[in-house]
Amino acid sequence: MPSYQYRELSVDLDKKNNVAEALSHTLHISLDSIQNLSIERLSLDSRKRGAPHWSYNVFFDTEKTLKPQHGLFKKESETKNDLIVDSVDVSSLIHVIGAGPAGLWATLHLLRRGFQVKLYEQGKPVESRFRDIRRFFNDRHFNPTSNVLFGEGGAGAFSDGKLNTRSRNLFSQTVLEDMVHLGMSKEILYFSKPHIGTNKLVLLLRALRQEIIDLGGEIFFESKLEDIEITNQQISKIKINNSWLDCDTLVLAPGHSARDLYELLNEKGVTLEAKGFAMGVRVEHPQALINERQFGKNVDIDLTGSAEYALTAKTLKDTSSAYSFCMCPGGVLVPCASEQGALATNGMSHSHRKGPLANGAIVVPVQAGKSLWDGLNHQRRLERIAYEIGEKSYSAPAQSIEAFLNKKRDSIDLPKSTYPCGLTPNNIWDWMDPYICKSLAEGFLSFERKIPGFIKYGTIIAPETRTSSPIRILRNLDTLESVSTKGLFVLGEGAGYAGGIVTSAADGVRFALKAKKLH
Ligand SMILES: Cc1cc2nc3c(=O)[nH]c(=O)nc-3n(C[C@H](O)[C@H](O)[C@H](O)COP(=O)(O)OP(=O)(O)OC[C@H]3O[C@@H](n4cnc5c(N)ncnc54)[C@H](O)[C@@H]3O)c2cc1C
Repeated sequence: MPSYQYRELSVDLDKKNNVAEALSHTLHISLDSIQNLSIERLSLDSRKRGAPHWSYNVFFDTEKTLKPQHGLFKKESETKNDLIVDSVDVSSLIHVIGAGPAGLWATLHLLRRGFQVKLYEQGKPVESRFRDIRRFFNDRHFNPTSNVLFGEGGAGAFSDGKLNTRSRNLFSQTVLEDMVHLGMSKEILYFSKPHIGTNKLVLLLRALRQEIIDLGGEIFFESKLEDIEITNQQISKIKINNSWLDCDTLVLAPGHSARDLYELLNEKGVTLEAKGFAMGVRVEHPQALINERQFGKNVDIDLTGSAEYALTAKTLKDTSSAYSFCMCPGGVLVPCASEQGALATNGMSHSHRKGPLANGAIVVPVQAGKSLWDGLNHQRRLERIAYEIGEKSYSAPAQSIEAFLNKKRDSIDLPKSTYPCGLTPNNIWDWMDPYICKSLAEGFLSFERKIPGFIKYGTIIAPETRTSSPIRILRNLDTLESVSTKGLFVLGEGAGYAGGIVTSAADGVRFALKAKKLH
């Protein structure tokens, strides 16, 4: 029976699940003649303002011979190139550092392949971590190892839970399938912009922890990697909570904020390099404004979900560009620093995304520094100034976009914000780098043309510094092993090769699928 693909099948907003009916109607064939219908991709098409609709890519079989027409393709045979992976020799006992997406997924798949794995995380299980974060929002008592960035689930645990990847491959598909196996909705397998929100991420992490334990894995919380020993360019020992352990294979998945670990690795002669990243601010707008500008008036948001934006603007004679990053519809802002005396912003949301405000980072690329530490010092400088401006209470420097464009502090009260520790009215130009501010200003003018009201109704909350790592731990691109140190494998965002929840987790899967027992 011939197999086909139909791309961009239009389905009415209120008939999301009537895919077969829509296909039958579009192709003028009976419902009965459509067999083995499966969904490859689902997205919300809002290009025509005022008339958003669902857009599906589907596969199906039919005995009917279909005439060529727009959107219809013969199904191509699948290639399994991605399955061909090189083997990497590792010991049967593997020590993994960091219970973020990269470390957790490496652990899960190593265990499934019969390895013994010990996973160490400096922070706490997600339930206790949640309590520490709530306490921090209330009493501002910062815990350097249990916070929005550190603890079970890593930086991704208190997020919007966007599960986007730039490209889907075997490894990212495996991560999404694991998530479905662990209780998440099947829709994440084909939705173009899946997200699950913090509330569901917590459930996912608990299920994943149980799966790891059931497979015989050991997870050690509040266990920090403090030192390493390298003998003849091979990892030989690790120090966890003041105890030295023998170690032939160490997997480091420490995330982009493990600044003390970068210092340790550099001191021990592990090869690191400076890399470019991005910095800027977070902006907050009424979600109703974004909904109306993206979808048009009178659209039922219960059917579409809150609207998103993804904005870019070429600025400063095209040498630099401002762009939106990590937008959280109906979300809340969170202070996210990993060090005492520093303030950085980020955003998270719940699965329903029904909060009254939308937030998103607007950032500008920062070139790799001349020295290894330039980028990290740059982040730190802005975070410390912001902390001082907020009188050491995590109140964040804030300015309306209108006042920012006039380079003046606001003279009237700022609108209500979701940021939990208060706002301090301030002129961001006074302390943020002029080239960043100039690019942001040009970006806002450009975004106003795309979303009228972006300037008038927008509030800036600053600074957004932790977009990705300013440092890369150099690795062999095939084996994922450090170029300088044998037995040391570096994964995820902290290694500088991945960014985002699924991509970092996929890096963990990739390593686990390559691993081959040496002894
Ligand atoms: C607030 C926020 C919202 C985000 N929203 C999204 C989103 O919606 N979608 C998305 O795709 N991405 C999002 N991100 C980015 C995403 O979370 C990261 O890209 C991802 O978590 C990186 O995974 P990782 O495993 O490489 O590192 P991490 O998640 O950073 O995990 C590293 C872990 O290692 C631990 N660690 C570090 N050093 C040591 C040590 N010495 N000893 C023991 N443990 C150590 C840390 O405590 C941490 O738990 C968000 C990030 C933040 C901060």
